[in-house]
Amino acid sequence: MADAVFAAVVTNRATHLEAVLATPEGAIRQRRSATTRVPFTPDEVLGQVVRLAQELQAISVSEGLIITGGALALEATLTADQGTVLALPGGAGWGTVPLRARLTMASGFRRGMAVTTVTNAALLGEMTLGAGIGATSAVFLDLSRSVSAAFWWEGQVLHRPHLGALGHIPVVGATDRCACGGRGHLETVASAQALVRRMIGLLVEAPATESAVMRLTGGRAESLTTPQIWQLACEGDAIAAELMAEADAALASVILTLLLALDAERVILGGTLAHNGPTWRDALAALVRQNAPPARADDLAARLVLSALGSSAPMQGAIALATGLS
Ligand SMILES: [Zn+2]
Repeated sequence: MADAVFAAVVTNRATHLEAVLATPEGAIRQRRSATTRVPFTPDEVLGQVVRLAQELQAISVSEGLIITGGALALEATLTADQGTVLALPGGAGWGTVPLRARLTMASGFRRGMAVTTVTNAALLGEMTLGAGIGATSAVFLDLSRSVSAAFWWEGQVLHRPHLGALGHIPVVGATDRCACGGRGHLETVASAQALVRRMIGLLVEAPATESAVMRLTGGRAESLTTPQIWQLACEGDAIAAELMAEADAALASVILTLLLALDAERVILGGTLAHNGPTWRDALAALVRQNAPPARADDLAARLVLSALGSSAPMQGAIALATGLS
């Protein structure tokens, strides 16, 4: 029998679990999912993962494959050795859970199971199959509900419990309350979620923008997406343009700081905001170029690349992590 791997990703504030059976080359053979109304508890994640792993193992055997290892990615704070969950935002009972040891034991996989964060998994996915191929150093920016970063250095993902918490960098002039309890942090200005929320909040005083939003969303403003905000900004809508300019200026400043500090070969723009596409990447790169030391401006601006795998990056990273288990 040929080897296969099990990979799972928990997202949407720990309410959605997606699991796959894949070949070590990253080809997905089967998919399963489970959802819940309130965030999964540790026992529920363990139970669902084991249930889906057994179901997929049974299918794999009928296809001449055997699952020998697995990996789980979740939006949590993990210990530096990635074995224990220290915290999971919004989830109950998640303080200090030895998740890797429990999953390894319960799954019964010969090579055990690995645990990582969704952002680290997305970085690993991009380095293996996406926008990071060939680079020896890279930063992955996850610009979605929150803002976080993951780092690739000489062929490895760097691990520290609070590494990459860029969302809490203060932005001059910003005052909105952050999920952490502080004020004016980067993710209140530049996360996809904050951009949508701020845009919807401004519609009541801007009839022209409101009708443009209604046109784009088919009358459902609450379904507004960041690519739609970017489209309105590009079409000259003043409110959308101002929100995006504020987000881009804050992001470009942080990106330039990272490039100057780390000299990373690539900065991979990922998460929901990256769905804005190449014109948005170019706008961000132009801001980096404008503020960089002139002799290095073109080189540094060219290091910004869009995620190539999009929303499948975390799953591809989890597959790569499961494949690499020894
Ligand atoms: Zn914060």
